[in-house]
Amino acid sequence: MKCVIFLFMNSDTMLKDFSKRNYDDAIAFHGHSCGGLALGYVVSLYARELLDLDYSEDEEIVVITETDSCTVDAIQTILGTTAGKGNLFVNNWGKNAFTFYNRKTGKAVRLMMRPDFFKPSPELDALREKVFSETATEEEISKYHALSDQRVNDILSTHGSQIYDIKEPQQPVPEKAKIFSNIICPICNESVGVARCVEKDGQKICQFCAQNK
Ligand SMILES: [Zn+2]
Ligand SMILES: [Zn+2]
Repeated sequence: MKCVIFLFMNSDTMLKDFSKRNYDDAIAFHGHSCGGLALGYVVSLYARELLDLDYSEDEEIVVITETDSCTVDAIQTILGTTAGKGNLFVNNWGKNAFTFYNRKTGKAVRLMMRPDFFKPSPELDALREKVFSETATEEEISKYHALSDQRVNDILSTHGSQIYDIKEPQQPVPEKAKIFSNIICPICNESVGVARCVEKDGQKICQFCAQNK
C-alpha cells in the first residue's frame, strides 16, 4: 500500500513538474544558454498560450519545425514534443518557423519570426567569428559573452507576439506514430522496421543497403 501511494504521489508530482519546466530546464537539456534556445523557449510559451497546450506526455501536441537550430531543443523541453515520440518533425529549411498542433482541440498555428526582429549587430558578429576561430583575446571573449547574455535576456523578456507572426499552418496535422513489425534485410541480415524498407528487385531491403550496396 505504501508503495502504491508513493508511486501515485510520484507520478502526480512529475506531471506538475513537466508543465512548470522553465528556461533552466531547457539549458540542462541543450547544454548551454544561447539566443536560439531563448527563442525556442519564448515561441513554446506563446504556442502554449495560443493553443491552450500543456506538456505532451504522449502525442497530444505535435510540432513541425522549419529549422534544425537550438530553438528545437527548448521546444522539446517545454512542450514534450520529442524526437523519440513521433510528435516532432524537424525540417532543415533554414526558416525560423514552427507549426504547433493541439490534437485534443484540433487547433493549430504556424508561428514565423518577424523579418525585422533581429537587428544585425556587427560588433557581436565580429566577436563571434573571433571566438569561434579561437583568435579572440580574453577581453573580447568576455565582451562576447556579455553581449550574448544581453541578447538572451532581451529575448526572454519579450512576449512571443512581438517576435512571431501568426500564420496559417501549411499542412494538416501529421498522422500519429505507428508501430511496425520488423523483418530481416536479406543483404545485411540485420533486423529493420518493414515500413522503412525500400523495395529493390522484388525484395524489401534496408535503406542503408539500398543506398550503399
Ligand atoms: Zn545553442
Ligand atoms: Zn540491409
